[in-house]
Amino acid sequence: MTISTQSSTLFRRACRSLVGGVNSPVRAFRAVGGTPIFLSKARGARCWDADGKSYIDYLGSWGPMILGHGYPPVLRAARRAMVRGTSFGAPCEGEVKLAELVKQAFPSMERVRFVSSGTEAGMSAIRLARGTTGRPLILKFSGGYHGHADGMLVSAGSGALSLGRPSSAGVPLKIARLTLVAPYNDVGAVERLFQKHGKRIAAVIVEPVAGNMGVVVPRPDFLPALRRITKREGAILIFDEVITGFRLSKGGAQGIFGITPDLTCLGKIIGGGFPVGAFGGPARIMNQLAPLGPVYQAGTLSGNPVAMAAGIATLQALFGTDPYRKLQDLALSLIEGVYEAAHRRGVDVVVNGLGSMFTVFFTKDPVEDLAGAARCDTRAYGRFFHGLLKRGVYFPPSQFEAAFVSIAHTPRDVAVTLAAVDGALSDL
Ligand SMILES: *Cc1c(COP(=O)(O)O)cnc(C)c1O
Repeated sequence: MTISTQSSTLFRRACRSLVGGVNSPVRAFRAVGGTPIFLSKARGARCWDADGKSYIDYLGSWGPMILGHGYPPVLRAARRAMVRGTSFGAPCEGEVKLAELVKQAFPSMERVRFVSSGTEAGMSAIRLARGTTGRPLILKFSGGYHGHADGMLVSAGSGALSLGRPSSAGVPLKIARLTLVAPYNDVGAVERLFQKHGKRIAAVIVEPVAGNMGVVVPRPDFLPALRRITKREGAILIFDEVITGFRLSKGGAQGIFGITPDLTCLGKIIGGGFPVGAFGGPARIMNQLAPLGPVYQAGTLSGNPVAMAAGIATLQALFGTDPYRKLQDLALSLIEGVYEAAHRRGVDVVVNGLGSMFTVFFTKDPVEDLAGAARCDTRAYGRFFHGLLKRGVYFPPSQFEAAFVSIAHTPRDVAVTLAAVDGALSDL
């Protein structure tokens, strides 16, 4: 049944040199079956595979490409910066300018530190929270992803109030037990964990809108309760806005929900397609970092001039055009269209979405946490994914991920996508 394509040839070749043929596991298509397609080019809302077939792209490189691929001002800025020097290892103006733009959009980030990935941002924010509070434990939520640092690859233990257990081989039990895990949207569980471990919890880290169990939106009381509890207990509240920062609004999720966390992690969009992460918060906390304070953190390519230039051009474009209303309208027309097609075809779906991020779940029931996402028919998602791919539409190759709309997507793209959705649902 496998037809020979450039992608399948490349994948066979890749498997002899790269582990599983990929450099990030979800790209291997294990969650949806089949052979990954290799991309050779992307422009605007489209990408092309190694065979020259084109797709409407809803992967958006997992979130960064909010302006679409190859946005000319970003390319120009990166090119200009590159000619002046690809890396200095010394301070440059771009770092200051990008930090100023981040602060302008996120008033909670009085001081910023740039790193090279979202993983580093989360890992460093957690070290800073521990260094500032002198407490050892971190509370995260099941299905929340904060990069692949040891202490974040932890899932819930057996008892509701037990300490975490490793979700990856190679993470020592002793490290996993420093992470507490509660179900997303479950304020009661957070209260119980604080009752039990109270003054030993340094920080609560949360995706204010979850994107890594598929999109799951916070219940109205969830984020306010996290703010109230952490304040009362003297713990630090970390919003991991690596996806939602500059995606849901100029000021991220904290901007639309009106909740001010202590620390914020950013990534993806702020690099404009280059490797960048950032974390920040009040000077009182951030100044605990080296060189001012005792919490160590560093990076050879941190504040890289090319990445900073791409980030600056990206944020300037977002601030200049304020595209969030348009992005939301496009996503809403997609979501409505998916519901209509599913109804026509007699398929049960729930589409969770906010702003320009959404996930199609094959289920009758609301999806409000990881357990809800795990109960969905992921095999149906796999067939749906391949049905779309065949019809020239590229969705994320796992139900536990978000699809993204960019400003390059047009109503015409939405119409073509919805025709493909109808076809894909009809051959489920
Ligand atoms: C992608 C992501 C990360 C990790 O970022 P990388 O750049 O892949 O290391 C962290 N947190 C969230 C919420 C993410 O979506």
